[in-house]
Amino acid sequence: MSEVARYQLFINGAWQAATDGTTRPVINPATETFFASVASASALDLDEALASAERSRAMWSSKPAKERGEILVKAARILAAKVEGAARDLSTEQGKTIAEAAGEYARAIETLEWNGTRAEELTAPARLGSNRMIVREPAGVVAAFTPWNYPAVLIARKLAPALVAGCPVILKGAEETPSAAAHIVEALQEAGIPAGVVNLVFGNPSQISSHLLKSPLVRVLTFTGSTAVGKQLAKLAANNLQRCVLELGGHSPVVVCEDADLDKAITAITAYKFECAGQSCNAPSRVLVARPLYEAFLSRIIEAVRAIKIGAPDDPATEMGPMANARRIEAMQQLIEDAVDRGASIETGGSRLDRSGFYWPPTILTQVPKGARVLHDEPFGPILTVAPFDTIEQAIEEANATDYGLAAYFFTNDDDAKRALIGGLSAGAISVNYLKGVSADTPYGGIRQSGYGYEGGEQGVQAFQNLKLVNSLGPLG
Ligand code: NAD
Repeated sequence: MSEVARYQLFINGAWQAATDGTTRPVINPATETFFASVASASALDLDEALASAERSRAMWSSKPAKERGEILVKAARILAAKVEGAARDLSTEQGKTIAEAAGEYARAIETLEWNGTRAEELTAPARLGSNRMIVREPAGVVAAFTPWNYPAVLIARKLAPALVAGCPVILKGAEETPSAAAHIVEALQEAGIPAGVVNLVFGNPSQISSHLLKSPLVRVLTFTGSTAVGKQLAKLAANNLQRCVLELGGHSPVVVCEDADLDKAITAITAYKFECAGQSCNAPSRVLVARPLYEAFLSRIIEAVRAIKIGAPDDPATEMGPMANARRIEAMQQLIEDAVDRGASIETGGSRLDRSGFYWPPTILTQVPKGARVLHDEPFGPILTVAPFDTIEQAIEEANATDYGLAAYFFTNDDDAKRALIGGLSAGAISVNYLKGVSADTPYGGIRQSGYGYEGGEQGVQAFQNLKLVNSLGPLG
């Protein structure tokens, strides 16, 4: 496809079309129609991005951390002034409601600010007595690959700490949702980020990642996406021993204990599960309920999800919009077919809505046999399984019965149960009596097939730093 792209590449401080003029279409998932076009980088563009990042590296890393941070804070303010239009673009290309998109931008802005205001302390050397210290040095050029589900906040969680650490970045935005990358990079440009420090590319994802990771100039790879792609990237990174931060999939359990407050649990689970049509890596996907509460829980959650208003993302009455793309609809269909073939019951939902747009209703499955794919493959959509349990030990065993280990949630006020669940659940993050996602000030990362490394908090910045140990025979001064 060749035309002037609405969303362009940003290389060496300038917005530009791909050198060969190639573009890709961006589809509105609510209507399945063309929304905009995005430039698709050629090998030449990627080489230019690598060269410009490398040229800016020494200048950016030697700039006082305070000044780097000030640019981020200024960019956060510029972005805040544009949120209304940016949220509308994000909603149109992703399918989430405008309120969800605005909420996501608020978290992206908070992330830029949190990192920016702490730039000095996050990069200061650590003194160990009078004769030893650890100097935090920028690790070098970063290649950042971001997905389409939360394109604003996930970009901020990679860009802000890398820039504060003193690293230039080549960001690959998601081709399906390019506006967030464009708005954030534009805010950084207006805030005065020097040419070359942030480069934005779109295009063929596997060609871009293999091209960038072949370059020894790239020292850190940070990726959010599926486990399968994360593994491919880790293999590519092995050739140049590039450090990896991999935020991959999840299949998060919620354990509802016998003493749980049902209203609180149902409200919290329903709200968090169906945000962004269930396309969140840490959305709950399997609910385990203490047997005495099971029937009441089931009938009430069915009632709650049937009340969710599904509709066009730009309609203020809508509570859940369409899924982001046709691949997700196909994945939902396959998971449901497999589960039903094996004997699962559909309590509500279960098939695509008969209207244009990628609409899939909130779906609850029960009596799902252990071998069903929906209990093992990341659903990444509005499907929830519900099952009873008899003992906490059994709940923990079932909660841990996937290869993922990203998030886990539970509801109880019993201290023994809390201790057992916190100790027993195999996950990178646990929320108790509510469902909490990522925040700017704390590390968040998965274990096992959910990846490795952390984003957020001071650990999020350390991902982009080399620690240089200095030992001195006498005082360092
Ligand atoms: P996918 O793995 O093909 O793509 C996920 C993201 O990675 C996309 O933005 C894509 O552009 C990018 N990508 C794909 N191949 C790449 C490559 N070789 N190099 C660099 N980037 C690449 O899957 P999909 O169909 O877009 O999404 C489906 C699955 O992805 C979901 O089931 C879910 O497991 C996972 N996913 C996870 C997250 C998350 O937040 N962890 C976000 C989006 C998708």
